[in-house]
Amino acid sequence: MREANPLSNLPPPEALTPAAEKLVARIKEAGPVSVAEFMQIAASHYYAARDAFGVEGDFITAPEISQMFGEMIGAWLVDSWMQLGKPAAVKLIELGPGRGTLAADVMRTISAWPDCKAAFSLHLVEASPLLRQKQAELLIRHAPTWYETLVEVPEGLCFIIANEFLDALPIEQFIKTSQGWRERGVGFEDGKFVFTLLGSANVPAEFLDAPESSIFETSTASLAVMAEISNRLAQNGGAALLIDYGHKKRGIGDTLQSLHKHQFSPALAHPGRDDITAHVDFAACADVAAPLVNVHGPVKQGEFLSRLGIVPRAEALGEKADDDQRRLIEAALRRLVSPSAMGRLFKVLGLTAKGSSIKPAGFSKGDGHEVSDDGS
Ligand code: SAH
Repeated sequence: MREANPLSNLPPPEALTPAAEKLVARIKEAGPVSVAEFMQIAASHYYAARDAFGVEGDFITAPEISQMFGEMIGAWLVDSWMQLGKPAAVKLIELGPGRGTLAADVMRTISAWPDCKAAFSLHLVEASPLLRQKQAELLIRHAPTWYETLVEVPEGLCFIIANEFLDALPIEQFIKTSQGWRERGVGFEDGKFVFTLLGSANVPAEFLDAPESSIFETSTASLAVMAEISNRLAQNGGAALLIDYGHKKRGIGDTLQSLHKHQFSPALAHPGRDDITAHVDFAACADVAAPLVNVHGPVKQGEFLSRLGIVPRAEALGEKADDDQRRLIEAALRRLVSPSAMGRLFKVLGLTAKGSSIKPAGFSKGDGHEVSDDGS
């Protein structure tokens, strides 16, 4: 009698996603890719293939949690527009608008100021054709224009907003080995993506003596976006609000993460199926912007939204709501503002043109400097 082959009971190997196929082909042809290239290919396939937001998807973002988030951003924009002296034409540029919910809530909010609404034109920077379609469904009455990159948006006075855009952009990773710092790459072995080592690398002097296995991250792509935003504001005037999860102080640590249906998944396991992101290094972003524009914050999202008046707004909505709705409003408020939810990990970075008349709401003088002990 023959023993059953235990391997025959294993599930068949999972089919590779199109992103994985592309990566495998690339690795076979030219050797391991950088973490940045892995992330770029994984993320572009991911957003091109699905609407990942909300309870049914892989993650939920602040504008999808509650309309109050977009209302606060809308109020900030109206306030900034008034401080500029109510200019007749301003481009409102959103980077990575997802489903278009934030832009829809912003436009609804500013409609209460008809001059402001009339002055704003809507410009959406979105790489995913599927998400452009979703955005069109929500925003068509505001006649948006779409672009692949910020560089393509025509010059002119502008307000730029981005929520959870920078975290989706590729990062490079560097790892300390017994032979010094090396860039981290990704290879494909035994049917799996694995971390490998690429060439030697330079890291900031303060990390040269970090212990072995330490990881240092940069995001060339995010810093290029920061430089583009800052140059635009310097040349044309205006302001920007960048909201994301990340840290105020540069440090050591591996923040590459993948999410699938609201659960963490191994970072390299399912490129194109899982949402892949990394913490935003706000210190590095602010360093790129500072020579060109005024930098405000970063301030914790909870503080920013509270200063803008999200609590009275929740109360006003609650007054008109039934008990169930009121509980949902209160839960959404806690999620957006509470330090144990999004209130602390998420930060808001503000930029204004140098010499601008805008004193941006929601920021205070000490924000950029108060870094907690853990660098968050
Ligand atoms: N701001 C939205 C969506 C965040 S997800 C929200 O808060 O819900 C990231 C968004 O950025 C998606 O719309 C994604 O398609 C877009 N995106 C990611 N990388 C991009 C790139 N390199 N160029 C343009 N859009 C990009």
